[in-house]
Amino acid sequence: RAGTIGFIGLGAMGNHMLNNLVKKSTSKRKFALFDVNEDAMDSVIQRHKTEHAAVSISRCASPMEVAMKASTIISMVPTSKHVHDVYLGEKGVIQTLKKLDQESRKETLCLDESTIEQSVSKATALKLRETGADMMDAPVSGGVVGARDGTLAIMVGGDEASFQRALPVLQPMARKVTYCGDLGAGLAAKLSNNLLLGITMLGLSEATLLGKSLGLDPQKLADIINTSTGRCWSSEINHPEPLVTIENQSPPAHRDYQGGFVTKLAHKDLALAVNAAKEAHVPLELGKRAEEIYRPLAQGEEFGNRDFSSVYKAISDMMAR
Ligand code: NAD
Repeated sequence: RAGTIGFIGLGAMGNHMLNNLVKKSTSKRKFALFDVNEDAMDSVIQRHKTEHAAVSISRCASPMEVAMKASTIISMVPTSKHVHDVYLGEKGVIQTLKKLDQESRKETLCLDESTIEQSVSKATALKLRETGADMMDAPVSGGVVGARDGTLAIMVGGDEASFQRALPVLQPMARKVTYCGDLGAGLAAKLSNNLLLGITMLGLSEATLLGKSLGLDPQKLADIINTSTGRCWSSEINHPEPLVTIENQSPPAHRDYQGGFVTKLAHKDLALAVNAAKEAHVPLELGKRAEEIYRPLAQGEEFGNRDFSSVYKAISDMMAR
């Protein structure tokens, strides 16, 4: 069990993050995987059988079984509810921790990389700490491309000594791993960042539609923005206008907005930021408006599971009506 890495949640982000961990590990490292979606697990296991045959990867039937096999557990699931299920649910990690000896509990470190409510994250970590194990919030930024290339920015909150243990596990997935402070500090950084991301994508969409309507070629405008002060991640990596080509980039806009960071999740993060701001008495004029704009798209069939840059298409469609 000691030294084995458990990975729970093998979706758009998790499957790539695991791949980097496996690729950059020595062949002695063992992995234990779980996802509620059998197909997601099948395809990951198949891939590693072919590409990394020497690494031992086992399939688990629950988070409980992952905790039986692994002393470091990473989770990458959609929302607070899923994180609760994974750690504190009927077949959650905690059920195994309760049965383990003291030494095994103490060596257990859980790293939740999902973007969820800070309060749920802290409460889950405190509950796990009661068993002697430790947990940190370690949300990521960089999207599916960053997960694939192992260039994520990881923001970590929790005990500083645990951070030193977490670093070698997180580094293979990241360009930069930052210790942000106590429990919840990683999520505070992530929610602030994604609040800005949701707003900048909207701003870029409006600026591009304005430029086009005033007679500018969108490619010319994109090239100008990318060498001017309006430059941002959305303009450089994830441009929402399908006609725009940026060197070395293949944004979801070129695939009818398939893949990437889906609108549902982008909206979830904005809603988390707006709620957190309410509790902290921070007025978020733009943030609140952005949340209102993404909300119906996130809930609808057409845009919910498309990349959040499809907000550009939603606004263009509205203009055409
Ligand atoms: P996803 O929906 O593609 O993948 C989530 C996976 O978790 C799925 O395979 C699902 O079956 C699995 N899952 C759900 N409940 C589970 C449970 N109880 N036990 C085990 N597995 C379970 O989502 P994603 O895009 O990989 O995002 C995961 C998290 O990362 C979210 O919190 C998201 O906000 C955050 N995030 C996503 C991106 C992105 O670009 N997609 C970027 C940064 C952060």
